Amino acid sequence: MAATRKPSSKAKTDVVKQVLNRLEKIHPDAKLDLDFTNPLELLIALILAAQARDDLVNQVTVPLFKNYRTAEDYARASLPALQEQIRKINFYRNKAKSIHNCCSEIVARYGGKVPDNLDDLISLPGVGRKTANIVLGNAFGRQAIGVDTHVMRLSQRLGLTINTNPDKIEFDLMSIVPEKQRVRFCHLLQYHGRRVCLAKKPRCPECAIENLCPYREKTKS
Ligand code: SF4
Repeated sequence: MAATRKPSSKAKTDVVKQVLNRLEKIHPDAKLDLDFTNPLELLIALILAAQARDDLVNQVTVPLFKNYRTAEDYARASLPALQEQIRKINFYRNKAKSIHNCCSEIVARYGGKVPDNLDDLISLPGVGRKTANIVLGNAFGRQAIGVDTHVMRLSQRLGLTINTNPDKIEFDLMSIVPEKQRVRFCHLLQYHGRRVCLAKKPRCPECAIENLCPYREKTKS
């Protein structure tokens, strides 16, 4: 019996290029849905966004970002005051603590500026690779890949990775997504994941990349 050949790296890169082209046509509005104007605001929004809806985070950050403009402001704030500002968000007590600890480190070690490299970012309390890469990609203009739930699910379904660990998926994608399009690739997968390739019941019959997708549990019309 002939052995099943795994797709080569080149074959995966070809798939990625076609995915980019097609998803760009159907989700031209794809972007990061969190509102921010600088790296600190994005970092705070991402801490708040863990298991919370982006639109709710955007509501809460309007007054928050007016009252707290620098890392020092968050570091100096009392925890109850910070909790009060974000109490509409789930896990607000823990998130207030994370923001406070993270900003205290930014003040103590980086002069109040959010660091612009991965190693320093992931050394901050509560900041993992996903958050760090999203900050680098969206606030510092680096071509980084932040593996969130949508990027992970779609990469797996599309056969671009066999891994389940987000760090390994990031490395797999870094080797096959064209460098200049890494951030865009993430935005497009996020929108496709929300609109078409839903976690529980993907809408395969109406999917623009259906013929590129080897997922075994595709839905039928
Ligand atoms: S064919 Fe189905 S599983 Fe594959 S990407 Fe499209 S919606 Fe997702």
